[in-house]
Amino acid sequence: MSQSSQFISTRGGAPQAGFADVLLAGLAPDGGLYMPAAWPQFSASQIAAFAGQRYQDVAFAILSRFVGDSFTAAELKEDIEAAYAGFTNPQIAPLSAMTGNRYLLELFHGPTFAFKDIALQILGRLFSRALTRRGGRATIVAATSGDTGSAAIAALGGLPNIEVFVLHPKGRVSEVQRRQMTTSGHANVHNIALEGSFDDAQSIVKGLFAEKEFAGEVGLTAVNSINFVRIAAQSVYYFTATAALGKPATFIVPTGNFGDIFAGEAAERMGLGAVRLVIATNANDIMARALNEGVYEAGAAYHTISPSMDIQVASNFERALFEASGRDAGWTRAAMESFARDKRLVLPPLILSELRSRYDARSSDDEDTLSTINAIAGTSGRVIDPHTAVAVNALRKFGFREEPMVVLSTAHPAKFADAVINATGAPPPMPEELQRVLDLPEQLEILPNNLALIRQFISSRLAG
Ligand SMILES: *Cc1c(COP(=O)(O)O)cnc(C)c1O
Repeated sequence: MSQSSQFISTRGGAPQAGFADVLLAGLAPDGGLYMPAAWPQFSASQIAAFAGQRYQDVAFAILSRFVGDSFTAAELKEDIEAAYAGFTNPQIAPLSAMTGNRYLLELFHGPTFAFKDIALQILGRLFSRALTRRGGRATIVAATSGDTGSAAIAALGGLPNIEVFVLHPKGRVSEVQRRQMTTSGHANVHNIALEGSFDDAQSIVKGLFAEKEFAGEVGLTAVNSINFVRIAAQSVYYFTATAALGKPATFIVPTGNFGDIFAGEAAERMGLGAVRLVIATNANDIMARALNEGVYEAGAAYHTISPSMDIQVASNFERALFEASGRDAGWTRAAMESFARDKRLVLPPLILSELRSRYDARSSDDEDTLSTINAIAGTSGRVIDPHTAVAVNALRKFGFREEPMVVLSTAHPAKFADAVINATGAPPPMPEELQRVLDLPEQLEILPNNLALIRQFISSRLAG
């Protein structure tokens, strides 16, 4: 088995694990995040050769370097093909030109019209395969600020031996996002509208995992962006975009939980050779403050028009800290423990300069975001969603450079019709598939921000 098919925890207190264990567990047992023991390497000529290949074949070339003996090549191929069969664009993640050397990398052609489909459609299939092989059953709990929930439901709804519980902050996701989650009609899908913020939902999920006896009994697992398999699957489009452009690019990434942009760092560590990775945040700017001021500190949670980025703690940042520290698990553990205690972490100068050698960060408020949607519609006739607009505005603030500037376009504008109407005065074009969910009956439970009550609700649903 190759070394890169083994995984270690960022906190150093968990035994090495194989790909299937990492896939099924999500979080490492010591509270850390799984990382490959060594990054697989791709040479410049291997990357150049991705140009013109099918997206699915590039995904196979990359993912096959992580799976070890957990899946055969034929199994992995089959799941990758099935994962992308439902995408409405045959290129899966097409690059489209804006003006000059600026591009949008369109990541919203999957079944729920946001980029999370790209990873979750694969993850769900591999997950079900691994679970069936072990004869187990799983209870998946996910906290969502909007898009993860519907993407998880689209990927896992109707699968045997899996129950899915999705917590979203009540009233803080768009109507289309909520309806995409609550209208699936699958008996194994349970939606909870939590009376609290996304961070409250995320703490409840963490709290459920901390209740070891309950977690063990129900086979609790996560598909949140901390699952390494998502990072690996998301690294693929950094390669396809670079290969298509034929030269290194700067990527500007709308950032919440730091999963999508960390997939860029993962690609870098596999040999990508990007120029810069630019973190684009909304008013929930913990990552921009961390990079620009050197202090990683949770602040108040703002409800913005780019709700999938409304978070205060960027869980995957732990991975970047682990790497920036030279993979010092002892330091990473102490840093994350002190952050958990104080909600504040001063980044040591060496770590900060290592992070800055790769990342820049810019934040935008709602006003910037609306005016960006309006400006782009005015100049090009193209309607972009508010998350994409946060990144387009970050690009404007960062400045235009020589190299190709690639903005990750993470959602279809129709998912955020209210923001688009506010910005341009006109509704975005509505794909048929999204129109349909507006008429279906909804199923959801409104519950208070209370760990014990949520646990009881899950137990009673599992028993029934
Ligand atoms: C989840 C999401 C993001 C943020 O991605 P992270 O991996 O959490 O940083 C950005 N845009 C959209 C539309 C999303 O759904």
